[in-house]
Amino acid sequence: MSKTFYIETFGCQMNAHDSEKVVGTLVSQGYSQVPTPEAAELVLYNTCSIRDKAEQKVFHRLQQFKKDHGKGKVFGVLGCVAQQEGQSIFEKAPHVSLVCGSASYNQLPDLLVQLESGNKRVTGLSLDTEETFETPFARRDNPHRAYITIIEGCDKKCAYCVVPFTRGPERSRTGESVLGEVHQLAMAGYSEVQLLGQNVNSYHDPSPAGWDFATLLRKVGNVSGMRRVRFTTSHPRDFVKDIIDAIDENPALCNHVHLPVQSGSNRVLDRMQRLYTRDDYMRRIEWMKNAKRNIAITSDIIVGFPGETAEDFEETLGLLDAVGYDSIFAFKYSKRPNTPALRYDDHIDEDEKSRRLAIVQEKQRQIQIVRNALLVGTVEEVLVEGFNKATGQWIGRTSQHKTLNFIRPGDSGDALLGTYLDVRVTRSGPNSLAGESVN
Ligand code: SAM
Ligand code: SF4
Repeated sequence: MSKTFYIETFGCQMNAHDSEKVVGTLVSQGYSQVPTPEAAELVLYNTCSIRDKAEQKVFHRLQQFKKDHGKGKVFGVLGCVAQQEGQSIFEKAPHVSLVCGSASYNQLPDLLVQLESGNKRVTGLSLDTEETFETPFARRDNPHRAYITIIEGCDKKCAYCVVPFTRGPERSRTGESVLGEVHQLAMAGYSEVQLLGQNVNSYHDPSPAGWDFATLLRKVGNVSGMRRVRFTTSHPRDFVKDIIDAIDENPALCNHVHLPVQSGSNRVLDRMQRLYTRDDYMRRIEWMKNAKRNIAITSDIIVGFPGETAEDFEETLGLLDAVGYDSIFAFKYSKRPNTPALRYDDHIDEDEKSRRLAIVQEKQRQIQIVRNALLVGTVEEVLVEGFNKATGQWIGRTSQHKTLNFIRPGDSGDALLGTYLDVRVTRSGPNSLAGESVN
């Protein structure tokens, strides 16, 4: 078998970084990555299954390339969809030879050997693991910002969520291995690192050092050369004030916290099994509002959860006002296999979910117009991430994770990519800021 592969990823940063690790593992096994499925012998899809859309996409893609199967291509499905659908993928798409869930990537080298010896039904589907997928081989796409997984899986059991079924039990990497990787990345020229996990703040170092998340954050923030440290996602139940204190102490820790609330109604939060009340959540928001630094707060919202009444929905809208989020991801509730909410008998129809989603999005747009306008006149440090030839503007990212497009006469092309500059904000819109470089 010739050793070329193509990989396509659908889903969140966790999935994107999993793919970087899979690519690194394959390359270390003698494979080379090619840019199109047509050019590859091994075609891999790494797919999230948080909502049903991504899942439908992967089956569509598999159908699309089915006709090529006779020409010797080998197909594999990785990630959450693989874990969730398991062996049934072989029935739905008989040309697939490899099905490997995200808790089993450690086994990839073995699975590849089985594939190479002609095995047509190779699976890695065990969730029974205490290990994390650590690899020295991750191939990172972005030259300035690197993702690092610090905790995998999830032990919470939110009533709507497939993650505990697809990513297995919660397990943290040792603090030493995380710090080791951050040092290596700094030496390789990365200046921004993003700590990843379903619930990063549930982190607990399994080594005798026993660091909690705030301790890890402080250590990573002190690594020389790492100018920006981000982390996502935090779970409100495990969010302690020490995390805010750490951000206040060290400017390398970005002033942005993503703290998904899901709903503003205690009744819905309880039915979601989220483990906190609206008051608990608002207390954490107060810590952030009272911080020395101007911390941007973002969130995830689910609309149309089973049984969500008009009053419950109003409470969510009220919460958006009360917090004043810098941005949100809002989703319509999506039925997921195995989850407790599937069995609730008061599901909301799709049209009503769509109506509520549109209302939430419009309300949040108005909030963002006001929030972003407050930054006009301030000077923000940006990491330069791109250049827009059409507008002649550089694209920067602030510590708060806002996009700040700016002009800087005299420079164009790639000259400034990866550098940090101070930019005065002169205009604002709902989704971005505009300004001019001051240095
Ligand atoms: N662990 C994080 C937390 O608890 O806040 C969230 C991780 S989850 C991968 C990302 C987001 O997907 C969730 O915050 C939720 O808003 C959304 N989500 C998860 N399951 C969903 C479902 N069945 N329908 C709609 N949105 C869902
Ligand atoms: Fe899913 Fe809840 Fe775990 Fe987040 S905490 S990954 S929403 S089960």
